[in-house]
Amino acid sequence: MTGNISLAQGREYLAIPGPSVIPDEVLRAMHRAAPNIYSGELIDMMPGLTADLRRMARTEHEVAIYIANGHGAWEAALANTIAPGELVLVPASGRFSHGWSEMARGLGAETQIIDFGKSSPWDMERIAEALRADTAHRIKAVLAVHVDTSSSIRNDVPGLRRLLDELGHPALLMADCIASFGCDMFEMDAWGVDVLVTACQKGLMVPPGVGFVCFNDRAAAKRATMPRVSWYWDWVPRGNPDEFFQYFGGTAPTHHLYGLRAALDLIHAEGIEHVWARHARLARAIWAACEIWAEGGDLALNVADPAYRSHAVTALRLDSGKGTALRQWTEQRLGLTLGIGLGMAAPGDPARDSFFRLGHMGHLSGQMVMGLLGGIQAGLSALDVPYGKGALDAAAQVIAS
Ligand SMILES: *Cc1c(COP(=O)(O)O)cnc(C)c1O
Repeated sequence: MTGNISLAQGREYLAIPGPSVIPDEVLRAMHRAAPNIYSGELIDMMPGLTADLRRMARTEHEVAIYIANGHGAWEAALANTIAPGELVLVPASGRFSHGWSEMARGLGAETQIIDFGKSSPWDMERIAEALRADTAHRIKAVLAVHVDTSSSIRNDVPGLRRLLDELGHPALLMADCIASFGCDMFEMDAWGVDVLVTACQKGLMVPPGVGFVCFNDRAAAKRATMPRVSWYWDWVPRGNPDEFFQYFGGTAPTHHLYGLRAALDLIHAEGIEHVWARHARLARAIWAACEIWAEGGDLALNVADPAYRSHAVTALRLDSGKGTALRQWTEQRLGLTLGIGLGMAAPGDPARDSFFRLGHMGHLSGQMVMGLLGGIQAGLSALDVPYGKGALDAAAQVIAS
């Protein structure tokens, strides 16, 4: 046979920025009969699960668990801290920052957005201006998306804390770590983050369905002043339950808890610093290849400065408009699924077909990244996209170094 032979048999590879690849250990842990939710193993597992989540978030403070995706965790964080009519500041560097703002407005909050566009990190000077102008301290929280998954920008969360401290501004610092958790280094307590929001289906390697909110004493104090908090989203009983059902406001997400246990075991057996270092190294291999492909004049990395690139996701574009074609080619011909572009062009705008993203979060090895890059290069070649030569060599060197 010659011509368009499919090479998609064998194990498929989902390289989108969430849900991420699920380890066999997690799948096996979830494949079991329904457990008792009134006594036994599941209930005994909870203190260890919450302790290991806190350890991963680098916090000594509370964690509340929700049967929810990331959007649910966003809502939980806001529902406990921001009353209707209160103001939140949102420095935005991508679609997810705007999504969290829309949710805040839906809950009756006022939002002040500083929009840094789709390819730039926060400009601390502009954030400082907004905070300085707020002499009455109307801003109750800053909604800070650590890694915006649409643009793949990684923002300087500790820098934002230093700014708030320098200006003596009391707003809570609330960080969306949904994409970065277990991928990019993050230290909740050392960085002075008051509320950390995350979910299980990205760096945590568990199917979507559980969200987490960690909150410190400052956030708990704000919670205590709220006129009302909905029973379901209230983090008080979830953080410190008297009864097992209070962890979840009802029936436990039984199988997700087993999956989560297995995932946390993998992460802690590797060591969180090693997990971060592995993501950093693999990300550098991906950037090395992309930078060389870019020399061909068609492919471009969305984030110019490596200091602001996420280690979990990379947003790219093909100026020929062949991004969608590339995704289709690698999926159909190789069994390799790349992520769609998100929030980079309006619906109906043909430019949408230029954008795509690579998810490189969670259960990811050097051979997977080399396979990902090799697959992309095969697609560029098949689609006659001009690209710089030597990209795979450059990636291999980063991996080998
Ligand atoms: C994935 C993601 C979300 C949304 O999570 P869902 O589980 O899709 O609701 C929010 N913020 C960031 C940064 C994300 O990566």
